[in-house]
Parts: sequence; C-alpha cells; structure tokens
Amino acid sequence: MAIQIPRGTQDILPSQVGTWELIENKAKEICHKYQYKEIRTPIFEHTELFHKSGETTDIVQKEMYSFKDRGDRDLTLRPEGTPAVVRSYVENKMYGDPNQPVKLFYNGPMFRYERPQAGRYRQFVQFGVEALGSQDPAIDAEVISLAMEVYQSLGLKHLKLVINSLGDKESRIAHREALIKHFKPRIHEFCADCQNRLEKNPLRILDCKKDRDHELMKSAPPIFEFFNEESKQYFDQVLAYLDALGIAYEVDPTLVRGLDYYNHTAFEIMSNAEGFGAITTLCGGGRYNGLVQEMGGPETPGMGFALSIERLIAALDAEGITLQTEAKVDCYVVALGDEAKIPAMVLLQQLRKAGYSADKDYLDRKMKAQLKAADRMKAKFVAILGEDEIKMNKVVVKNMENGEQVELSISNFISEFERLGR
Ligand code: ATP
Ligand code: MG
Repeated sequence: MAIQIPRGTQDILPSQVGTWELIENKAKEICHKYQYKEIRTPIFEHTELFHKSGETTDIVQKEMYSFKDRGDRDLTLRPEGTPAVVRSYVENKMYGDPNQPVKLFYNGPMFRYERPQAGRYRQFVQFGVEALGSQDPAIDAEVISLAMEVYQSLGLKHLKLVINSLGDKESRIAHREALIKHFKPRIHEFCADCQNRLEKNPLRILDCKKDRDHELMKSAPPIFEFFNEESKQYFDQVLAYLDALGIAYEVDPTLVRGLDYYNHTAFEIMSNAEGFGAITTLCGGGRYNGLVQEMGGPETPGMGFALSIERLIAALDAEGITLQTEAKVDCYVVALGDEAKIPAMVLLQQLRKAGYSADKDYLDRKMKAQLKAADRMKAKFVAILGEDEIKMNKVVVKNMENGEQVELSISNFISEFERLGR
C-alpha cells in the first residue's frame, strides 16, 4: 500500500496555496503598518526552553514532540512561538536596541501531539506577534487591534473578542491562596491533572476542559476580587483604549490562558459564525511580564498573541468567504508543426522576461486541444504560431475574452503585445 500522510497533518495543495499566500501576505502587510518586524527562529529548540516557560501546561506535559539527536541532546519541535522569540530576544540582547519597544512577528509551523479533530492538527501554522519592553496599556490595545485587523481585513464579520485580566503578581498570589482554599476540600472530585495543579498552579484548574461543568468552577472566586489598585487601573486603561478605538469586547472573568507566564491582560478572539463547530477560539494572547527574566534576561514586560492559519481558514469557510486567488495566465502560446516549436519557446521566454505569466503546450496536442488547454487555464490571450506565420514573420494573437484577433510581428512581438493591454 502507498504510504500515507501522518495523522494530524495535512498537505496544502496547489489549489489551496493561493489562499494561504494571500492570508500570510495580508498578515505581514498589517505587521509592516504597525511596525512589527519579522523574526525567524529554528523549528526545534532545547527541550528545556519549553519546560522553563510552561511547566504545568498541557503543551509541556502531554503534547511535545521531544527527541534525542545523535549527539544525545534533548530537543523538541517547537509547540509554540513565544518561548523561542524570547530566547532569541535575550540571546541577541535586543533589550539593548535603541528602538524600543521591540516589536516582532513570526509565521511558521508548530507541532503538538494532540488528538486530531476539526481545527486541531499535530502540525499547524501559527502567526503571532510579541511586543517586548513596554508596560503601556496602549501596547495591549495595539496588539489586540492588530489581531482584529488581520481577521477583519479578510472579510470576517462574526468575531467576538473576549478579554480578562489576571492582575499582577501580588494580585495573583492572593487569588492563588483563595483558589486553593476553594478547591482543596473537594479536589478528589476532579481529574488527576487538576489534583496535580492544585498546589502548582490552581489558576489552571479554571482552564480544565474535563471538569469545566463542576459546580465549584462557577462558584470559584474571580480574580478581579483580588486586584490591587494597580491591576485594576491597568485593566481599566486597556479597556478605555479599546473603547476609544471602537473595538467591541466582552469581559469574561473566567478566561485564563493556558500558559503560566501570563499576567494582566488575557484575551481570545472567537468566531461566532453559525456552524463553525465546537472549537471556536481563533486567537489567544496576553501579557507576560515575567517571561524574559525567567529566560535569563533583564526584567522586561511583554505582550503578544498567536493565531493559527488553519482555524482562520475554518472561520472563512464558516462565513462562506472565498478569497480571490486565481493565478491568471496572460498568454498561452499555441504552436503548430515542428517548425514552430523553437520560435514558440522563444516567444514564451520573451513574454516571461517582460513580466507576463505565460505557458505553452508540452504534449504535442492538436490545435483544438491546445486552445482548450488555454481556455481551462483562463488565458487572457492566445498567441498562435504556425509554419506559414513564421515564414511571414507573423503571429496571430486572439483575445480570449472577446474573440478579437490581430496579427503581430514576431520580431517586434513584445512591444506590439504590450499595446494590447494586460
Ligand atoms: P486550545 O484551547 O484550542 O487547545 P490553546 O490554548 O492550546 O488552544 P494557544 O497555544 O494559545 O492555543 O495557540 C493560539 C492559537 O493557535 C489558538 O487560538 C488556535 O487558533 C491555534 N491552535 C492551537 N492549537 C492548534 C492546533 N492543534 N491546530 C490548529 N490550530 C491550533
Ligand atoms: Mg491546546
């Protein structure tokens, strides 16, 4: 039997690549407008890097593709972008760059050993941004607005921005104590993961997918009750910026992001398009003021998000949006008879060098079949080159849209073709 694609992965076929290109280019274009610069980090990193950034998360505990290389090093295919970006930020001393904050974006494959289902792959592409070095709530608003613009620029309308704050360190410690007190007496009713989380990171219990309907979840003390003045103010300012920018949101006090290093702002963008399916989160992000220091750098605030192109495409599908990506053919060269073969190839090369997209027959087909091929490719013009035409230094060019035909000279082909208009 022929070998099949690994579970949880997909081929992006030529007919789909145009959509991907368009989305990725749009995202890059928006990053340029917002002055975020691209960074490309390796696909694999030292396993330790991911342990440092998220010891108690599902990603680190269950989903990593880790392996030993031939030199006995522990390596992992990156499951997310942020740890590597922060590693590189520290390693390359970007905190010393005169341009601050450092605003970065990335786009590339991530790997997680997950149970594959719609919208959940083992290899998927994440586009994300990180703004490092600013504690200004305006940066939180900028990052959120950038994410929203990516979706909106592609025509998506059924979007919901959900936002919360996890407060600063002090607020989180107070909340942590309250959560332990809340869950401890009945922790045996929860899954093994949650029992594990109780002492290590009780906030993560609120993010559990198995126990989400347990009554203690709803009655758990919300973080905002533990906000100190600074945390409260910070959150209010972020919301004030969003209001001023006309970005609608919903505050959800139960929203906690899966990663350990978040504080203050946490947000998700979901699709509420009908028929989108069970997994509706398109994008997740937030503020991570402790991570750079954790990675051995100076104390540096950070704010970012990640979204997957796969779920973005699923959202486009759910809203019935198809992006125009048809690659047009400007001219298809039809050659008739052996004498025409070389001149046809020369015309083709001239067209391409002049910037046109052009093609010809390579299967020795009859004229009718060649014209049919041109039609299938939606060629705008067809250039017909027969033995008689060659003798007279002529080429017949037909406009496939209106059927009009003209004779151009072979020796002056490009400049005459140019006049027909692209
Ligand atoms: P989920 O709760 O759906 O597992 P997550 O919290 O693991 O999401 P993040 O690590 O925050 O997700 O990643 C950010 C975004 O990347 C998600 O909002 C989602 O759009 C996308 N994403 C995450 N995992 C996958 C996957 N396995 N396949 C495709 N897209 C994914
Ligand atoms: Mg996940």
